[in-house]
Amino acid sequence: MSETVAGAVAERFGELYGSGPEGVWAAPGRVNLIGEHTDYNDGFVMPFALPHTAVAAVSRRKDGLLRLHSADVEGGVARIRLDEAVPESDRDWTAYPAGVAWALRAAGHDVTGADVHLESTVPAGAGLSSSAALEVVVALALNDLFGLGLSGSGLARLCRHAENAYVGAPVGIMDQTASACCRAGHALFLDTRDLSRQQIPFDLAAEGLRLLVVDTRVQHSHSGGEYGKRRAGCERAAALLGVDALRDVAHGELDVALDRLGGEEELRRLVRHVVTENHRVEQVAELLDSGGTRAIGPVLVEGHASLRDDFRISCAELDLVVDTALAAGALGARMTGGGFGGSAIVLVEVGDVAAVTRAVEEAFTAASFRAPRVCEAVPSAGAVRLR
Ligand code: ADP
Ligand code: MG
Repeated sequence: MSETVAGAVAERFGELYGSGPEGVWAAPGRVNLIGEHTDYNDGFVMPFALPHTAVAAVSRRKDGLLRLHSADVEGGVARIRLDEAVPESDRDWTAYPAGVAWALRAAGHDVTGADVHLESTVPAGAGLSSSAALEVVVALALNDLFGLGLSGSGLARLCRHAENAYVGAPVGIMDQTASACCRAGHALFLDTRDLSRQQIPFDLAAEGLRLLVVDTRVQHSHSGGEYGKRRAGCERAAALLGVDALRDVAHGELDVALDRLGGEEELRRLVRHVVTENHRVEQVAELLDSGGTRAIGPVLVEGHASLRDDFRISCAELDLVVDTALAAGALGARMTGGGFGGSAIVLVEVGDVAAVTRAVEEAFTAASFRAPRVCEAVPSAGAVRLR
């Protein structure tokens, strides 16, 4: 399967650039199983990689030129001179791959140019991290071709730096780490403070379970500003509590911390979400480790309620997916990603997939919402060289 994809992408590369690529690489999108809005609080997250990948065919150049083409974007081959590439100079999708080349060169690596052709099955803007897939696939290709010797987590840090400094998006480290470091059949427990990580067995199929991703296909326009407000609120709460980050408030100390915030109701809600969410990541890790995958269902539901009621970043579409799926027999469901749209995840028995999917689709029709896109998320491998 991946060999067929690699062959097709290589062939298209040959048509575009005149000769075959030196290699073909793939990097996946991701879903976050649990641990939402914990990353910028130095907390825990637990993503897993999707079977959906960005695939890149790449060859080296020696003349300082980066030529970029994506099958998924209108327009021809973009040409960027590496010595002219500076942060926020590219306003379109090319900023992601150009940012990676820029970050590598800024770190002292001798990257002298490349031809790149990309094709991705990660839906863009659905909260499934198409951007990290794009960055990581390009970073891994350049790492291999130029013999840079960077590890998976080294590539992840570099890609995050590219997205923060070059693209100008204040993202955390989760997406790039998931895309670079996940293992098939596992979820990745990541401590975003020290970047230590642990592969947690998460073999849904072996237990007769499925995890659905429901893309609501909405992104409410205020999401960016609301993200900034939540982040600033978390920082203010940490300062008032005298800790470096909300991660430092232990679950057992939550009530004391909330008392100390007194009448700051808004901050109390943010703190309650972050502290209980970190605890939920640890709970899910323990349950999965002991083979209790079905038992994570209620923890996912609690996580959704916390995001909806305390963090207040859900929306009608996401709530409808969760409520409908649970009523139709799902074991658990929650919104995933930054909020105000994007995707929800639903944990179901294999025999209930059809009924739950139908129920969600019918509920969207009845509410006059745009039809959602439902797919199955099989915990898949991180970035690899295909050929
Ligand atoms: P997400 O990462 O959640 O999908 P982002 O807004 O972070 O959403 O990234 C989406 C952006 O990534 C797109 O607007 C586009 O610039 C870029 N992108 C994603 N997939 C592709 C692709 N296949 N080809 C070109 N650009 C892509
Ligand atoms: Mg992104």
